[in-house]
Amino acid sequence: MDVIVKVEHLVKRYDEVLAVDDISFEIKRGSLFAFLGPNGAGKSTTINIMTTLLNANSGKVFLNGQEDEVYFRNKIGVVFQGNVLDEFLTVKENLVYRGSLYHNNKESVMKRYDELRDFLHLDEFEHQRFNTLSGGQKRRTEIARALFSDPEILLLDEPTTGLDPETRQIVWKVIDELKKKHGMTIFLTTHYMEEAANADHVVIINKGKIVAQGTPAELKDKYSYDRLKIVPIDKNKLVEMLNEMKRTYEKIADQYVIPVEDPKDSIALINRFKENIKQYEVMMGSMDDVFINVVGGENNV
Ligand code: ADP
Ligand code: MG
Repeated sequence: MDVIVKVEHLVKRYDEVLAVDDISFEIKRGSLFAFLGPNGAGKSTTINIMTTLLNANSGKVFLNGQEDEVYFRNKIGVVFQGNVLDEFLTVKENLVYRGSLYHNNKESVMKRYDELRDFLHLDEFEHQRFNTLSGGQKRRTEIARALFSDPEILLLDEPTTGLDPETRQIVWKVIDELKKKHGMTIFLTTHYMEEAANADHVVIINKGKIVAQGTPAELKDKYSYDRLKIVPIDKNKLVEMLNEMKRTYEKIADQYVIPVEDPKDSIALINRFKENIKQYEVMMGSMDDVFINVVGGENNV
């Protein structure tokens, strides 16, 4: 897979705040790239520089190897953190008006509008004013706006923050379809760990710096661990055996939580303790662990 976006040594300072502190990364064409970080990490600042809304103090962004801003604007679609459409226009009016900025004849505007209405299922509310829509309907309309110019890459800044679980799922379905059916490259920022777990590549940013990156599996491998949770019949006996084996554990209420290497290790322990087990559970490492281990608990949002 080739590289569509390359970011090199980006730095952005707002007075005394160093919002983005020398970050570099690459986005592969056709991939889903997640930029994960707590509030204030520098996610929106980075996205705003990538979309040419904001100038960096130093560093470069390349799209298909090019640096020209006009070229960028034609190839990039952006869904901002907040909604940007006109509250008092209908969905159709908003989109057709915005679309006329990209197409020079009415026919092609309407053709694109129809495609997007069908793709995003806007038909039930296309004649409603934007301010009467639900959160999920607004997000779908904002995504349609971002897609009007048929961009090569779609950037979404916290597309699901503040949405209810059902609406989040709708947004995820759209993102998934864009990637799988249309081969679109997706870059999104999020502070939801479980969302980053769907990405092809995750970059974790904290206080303007990249603190870890890789596939979700690589990150979990490196920064999280599985645990075996046991509720014993005889506590003293379990503790005695654990100490003898030099195994670390944490006691939470009547449960003993033992970090394990891999499934084999859990099975060996379960076998060893089997006469003394009232209940047990094996918990797999998660993106939550990764986030807490990389960014630190105090930052957890
Ligand atoms: P995120 O999107 O990850 O929450 P931002 O990029 O919005 O983070 O912000 C990064 C840092 O820059 C924060 O400390 C924030 O307060 C600061 N910041 C963002 N925008 C401005 C601005 N326009 N003026 C001054 N400081 C800003
Ligand atoms: Mg932000």
